[in-house]
Amino acid sequence: MPSGSCACHYIRYTTTSTPTRLVNCHCTTCRKQAGAPYQAFVHFPIEAIKWEVEPTTWRSSDTASRTFCPKCGSTMSMVLDAEPQQIGIVAGTVDDASQIPEPSDHIFLEEKVPWYGLPADGTGRWQAWSQ
Ligand SMILES: [Zn+2]
Ligand SMILES: [Zn+2]
Repeated sequence: MPSGSCACHYIRYTTTSTPTRLVNCHCTTCRKQAGAPYQAFVHFPIEAIKWEVEPTTWRSSDTASRTFCPKCGSTMSMVLDAEPQQIGIVAGTVDDASQIPEPSDHIFLEEKVPWYGLPADGTGRWQAWSQ
């Protein structure tokens, strides 16, 4: 099962299941927090994530909470209020990248930056949330 960590390895987690899907979010909050054109999330059942050290939580909007490492600032996860049974783990924190599935969707393309071109990866394309 995948394990993961932040850039400084202070925050670490293990998992008890494989991720269900990989979604790339182009919303403004993800772009700013990632410092990149989009944020890639691998989805897990929330009970599958075992934090060895809990990351710091902040409210990123009135619909979601996100976490980060208080030492190095790495963004770690997001949970939507509407889907509390699921957690989006920031894909770049997974130690063994071969354990991440192929991407399924690009979401929030209505907020995508013009300086990044989408790859021809055969994924779903959504202006906001995927259906
Ligand atoms: Zn860290
Ligand atoms: Zn987003």
